[in-house]
Amino acid sequence: MPELPDLTVVAEELVRRVTNHIVLEAAAPAPILVRATPDEVAALGGSTIGETRRRGKFLLIPFEHPDGQHRILAANAMLAGRFWLVSSGERVRARTGLRLRLNDGQDLRYVDREMLGKLYLVPDDRLDDIPGWADMGPDADDPELTLDRFRERIRRHPGELKPLLRNPRFVAGIGNAYSDEILWDAGLAPFRRRSSLTPDDIARLHHSMRTVLSAAVEQLRELVPPDIQTQHREILKVHLRGGEPCPRCGRELRQIGGREATTFCRSCQPPL
Ligand SMILES: [Zn+2]
Repeated sequence: MPELPDLTVVAEELVRRVTNHIVLEAAAPAPILVRATPDEVAALGGSTIGETRRRGKFLLIPFEHPDGQHRILAANAMLAGRFWLVSSGERVRARTGLRLRLNDGQDLRYVDREMLGKLYLVPDDRLDDIPGWADMGPDADDPELTLDRFRERIRRHPGELKPLLRNPRFVAGIGNAYSDEILWDAGLAPFRRRSSLTPDDIARLHHSMRTVLSAAVEQLRELVPPDIQTQHREILKVHLRGGEPCPRCGRELRQIGGREATTFCRSCQPPL
């Protein structure tokens, strides 16, 4: 599942490669992925693409139509959705949710092998219409999410640390992989409850959240372009590395759960 670092880098690449390009033709070959009618999708034709950005786990691609309509495509890729930039002549894959033919001979496509992603097309002042948008917390990398604000917010969210980090109402943009990375970095067990954290623990969690995410963005900037559809998980230190030695202490990493696995180190992340 793409998370904050992956999406930040894809957004930067789309800014570089499609900003100010014109959509010649828009279609939704697998319409189930797009929360809009075929006519609404087709009406993107003639639009100019604005600067893509990220908010939480959404990629936001703005479109400005000569008729004065400003719309935003808000894409939540869920497990397996990916944007592709390919030559317009390239075969359209199965499970292509959106195809935008651009004026430079490229297509911007959204392909989703699990068909779980959601693409919303809304007027640019109606993002609140997207389910979950209005109660989304600050982005995990929001400069205004200072340690003081983080302390204030975390008080309102009880429960275990891993689901807490993944809860977009608390902080937006973190999923299954980076929650493992952050908790390992902070030396906090994923099953610890927020109520058990000392002020020092909370400071460490905030610091690890920032440093793990920003280091990942730096690394992905080197790895991702130009193939925005490829997700790079080789930079992760612990997530899905159960059985391998902990990079800090050398003990075997523990992994539980299947597809939504949690990986941690029992000695670096003690239960209490
Ligand atoms: Zn360890």
